[in-house]
Amino acid sequence: MDMARVFHMNAGTGETSYANNSLLQKKVLSLVKPIREEAISSFYREKLPRSLAIADLGCSCGPNTLFVTYELIEIVEMLSRDLNHESPEYIIFLNDLPGNDFNNIFKSLECFKQKLRGQVADDGIDQCYITGVPSSFYGRILPACSLHFVHSSSSLHWLSQVPEGAENNKGNICITKTSPLNVQNAYCHQFQRDFSLFLKCRAEELGEGGRMVITLLGRSSEDLSCDKSCYIWELLAKALNEMVLEGIIEENQMNSFNFPFYTPSSSELKLEIEKEGSFTLNHLEIFELSWKAACGDDEELNNNNNNDGYKVAQLMRAGTESMLVNHFGEAIIDNVFHRYQHILADRMSKEKTMFFYITLSSTKTT
Ligand code: SAH
Repeated sequence: MDMARVFHMNAGTGETSYANNSLLQKKVLSLVKPIREEAISSFYREKLPRSLAIADLGCSCGPNTLFVTYELIEIVEMLSRDLNHESPEYIIFLNDLPGNDFNNIFKSLECFKQKLRGQVADDGIDQCYITGVPSSFYGRILPACSLHFVHSSSSLHWLSQVPEGAENNKGNICITKTSPLNVQNAYCHQFQRDFSLFLKCRAEELGEGGRMVITLLGRSSEDLSCDKSCYIWELLAKALNEMVLEGIIEENQMNSFNFPFYTPSSSELKLEIEKEGSFTLNHLEIFELSWKAACGDDEELNNNNNNDGYKVAQLMRAGTESMLVNHFGEAIIDNVFHRYQHILADRMSKEKTMFFYITLSSTKTT
């Protein structure tokens, strides 16, 4: 599968759009705020750059896209006031794959700048240059030493491709406990290749002392066979397998499909950072969030299993529909997610189902 051509979050603002189904990712962004705040503040205090260049990698489109940009500018504006220092000009790079709905982002930029002017600072904010960078972050996307701060949230668990050698992952759509060892190894090696390339490229793009804060879905245990990080994918596979049994999907079509998705453990991440050698890890934090976080705060308190199932199915649909349609065709999609919704509702009513996240804050040192 050609990721750059196929993969994108669902565009627009409709019922199945990413914009409308990204409450979980928003919650993640909110939880990581103190880590970003520490990183940008200590960088700014130390360097006081005249222009501050920030890249958000895997920005997607919707309410989350400019959330971090706004917050970082707000922090730097406050610091500038405290330090009695002239505000910097801001150069913001919003990166995602070319299929991302950049047009929607561009349309919202004027409104965003007005909000900044109105709420964060009366002057200075005019100098905020926002650019879209449609390219894979598993490669160089910006000039050498052009960045001060790199941010990426809920994106790096997507691999650059489905690993080669994962063809015999029968009945599965991702690495799971029942995947053969060669499939598990193929996924693991693909992640190592991708993440080390990501680090190498960011090390070239960041100037010395530049900071990077990344958050991704991870794994709580080293042992894949007792891990639950792929449970949500196992349940999606269950819906697809039901449809194979009913003759709606061909078995070989099912067996030849895998998602380019991998959840590393914190030690796998640390090891790649050490091996690549350009970054010092300042902080690593792990946290868990209930699947119900996809339903929003209020919903977390309620016990409405059907609605929970629907919301989590929509969350997954917004991120996976492009790849499923590419492989299975459009006709089966509503059916898949209808089944998935019920499977999820059932599981969520019986089990405590959690997402596991890892955040890394690092400094480019050499
Ligand atoms: N950061 C946003 C979006 C997360 S969704 C938020 O927190 O809400 C993940 C995004 O990563 C998607 O928009 C997807 O297209 C993007 N992505 C995945 N792989 C990518 C790659 N190789 N290069 C650039 N963007 C990528």
